[in-house]
Amino acid sequence: MTFSIHGLAVARGIAIGKAVLVASSRVDVAHYFIKPAQVEEELERITQARSAVMAEVQRLHQSVPKDAPPELPALLEVHMMLLQDEMLADGVKHWVTDRLYNAEWALTSQLEVVARQFDDMEDAYLRERKGDLEQVVERLLRHMKGLPSSLPQPKGRKPGSAWQQNQLLDESHDAPLVLVAHDLSPADMLQFKQSVFTGFVTDVGGKTSHTAIVARSLDIPAVVGARSASHLVKQDDWVIIDGDAGVIIVEPSPIILAEYAFKQRQAELERERLARLRHTPAVTLDGQHVHLLANIELPEDTQLAVEMGAVGVGLFRSEFLFMGRDGKLPDEEEQYQAYKRAVEGMQGLPVTIRSVDVGADKPLDRTVKEQAHLNPALGLRAIRWSLADPGMFLSQLRAILRAAAHGQVNLLIPMLGHAKEIAQTLHWLAHARAQLDKKSIPYGPLRVGAMIEVPAAALSLPLFLKHFDFLSVGTNDLIQYTLAIDRADEQVAHLYDPLHPAILRLLADTIAQGAAAGKEVALCGEMAGDPALTRLLLGLGLRYFSMHPTQILRVKQEVLRADTQRLAPWAQSVMQADDPAAEMLAR
Ligand code: PEP
Ligand code: MG
Repeated sequence: MTFSIHGLAVARGIAIGKAVLVASSRVDVAHYFIKPAQVEEELERITQARSAVMAEVQRLHQSVPKDAPPELPALLEVHMMLLQDEMLADGVKHWVTDRLYNAEWALTSQLEVVARQFDDMEDAYLRERKGDLEQVVERLLRHMKGLPSSLPQPKGRKPGSAWQQNQLLDESHDAPLVLVAHDLSPADMLQFKQSVFTGFVTDVGGKTSHTAIVARSLDIPAVVGARSASHLVKQDDWVIIDGDAGVIIVEPSPIILAEYAFKQRQAELERERLARLRHTPAVTLDGQHVHLLANIELPEDTQLAVEMGAVGVGLFRSEFLFMGRDGKLPDEEEQYQAYKRAVEGMQGLPVTIRSVDVGADKPLDRTVKEQAHLNPALGLRAIRWSLADPGMFLSQLRAILRAAAHGQVNLLIPMLGHAKEIAQTLHWLAHARAQLDKKSIPYGPLRVGAMIEVPAAALSLPLFLKHFDFLSVGTNDLIQYTLAIDRADEQVAHLYDPLHPAILRLLADTIAQGAAAGKEVALCGEMAGDPALTRLLLGLGLRYFSMHPTQILRVKQEVLRADTQRLAPWAQSVMQADDPAAEMLAR
């Protein structure tokens, strides 16, 4: 039976595919197809992991002290039983043999199937065994990953590039796949970049949560905040993800399917039409030059940025280099190489590297998230995190300075609010330069900018303009902190309003004061990439827009049609209205 689920539209387009349900804590396992010839090898990996884990649990069982509570050996016995369980073993074999899933994916798929059966059980004791099953699968996955007993990683089993995987998809499967999960962390999304899915749905998340932001950068249709989607959708259900409307249609009828297939083709045509604007300079009808820059997460994203005609990188979210590494941070050399790759990737165009912004909804990995403070958005995040660990901060600053020897690099500092934070940041930057000088390590000049993303900063602009070469407004956080709305919480998503008069006022003031001081003001929040807001932002005087590369052409189309002289008075009237959104529609 066809039914639909409503959520929040975060990444445009239509995806049609079969649902793959993944437990949220297991999204970070690799998802790729194997070749039929690899089936035996893959099954062998599972068998080996099972034997190793079995031996480990048996060892533990034997070493339980006599005076330990009786629950402990009993628990280990349950684990041993589950490891030998036919339903688990046969199911996993099915996913590998019939579906050609890699071993980890097969394990987590079968976990989903069995976990649902446990959920449906009447007996409370049996229902609780689901937790044990999850632990057993977790142990198997950790073994396969080489954690913690450092079993050797099987050779040649790494997922290939997205392209290679799509090739495999074409060879072995006709149906595209879409991922349905309760939650995905930004680090999961990085994994996603290499996976086979053509769209995704999550139960939780807001429009500007970092998960949604990464989804937009992947340019695959996505819906977040779909509440109970991961319960309502079943494994292998056909699903349409309408990323424009924020709707998921489950088990669509042939008529609905045909309609969406048509919409998909229309979108494809629109994309081709926009592609012709790639090399057109972004100049308004009245001759104003507008800088359309790219937001990137990884150095490799520069390729798309260049393809989409970005005139530089306005925001390199360096924290993505730090995530999903089980707490092991990249050292100076690794960071330097990554930043250098980004600089080289931009072929002479400027690259703005933001110092690490972890915390809030960007934990380094899941374990850290689970232990996180109750209100992480107000906690040790971004520059606060860096200043709390000068050794780490200095290594990042040295790496960025060294990358600046290879091209034009700007350093951007997130979440500053206090004069003393500015002073400390500049102090450590000077110190990093001195350290490089002392060792005669070459480095280049840096322009240094501050993000305006807490209201305190937006209300102390002279201080920021005195110390920095440029400003970049992070509206995602500026909205979150000004309106007291958690950007990752779908329950208050209806109150997250980029057009709130307070936001427009802070934005307009920042642009105007920057212009008066002769300093560049960019906007790198999601507002910059929303073509529905381009005319308003141009009218407020914005000339530097930084967004996902995939948004650049749509925004450019708006720029080319705009006349800033006519838009300026209109933008003032929108800003002064009680309801700017209604005022925008009225004219
Ligand atoms: C912002 O806050 O608008 C921003 C660009 O930074 P991030 O989304 O990474 O917090
Ligand atoms: Mg921010």
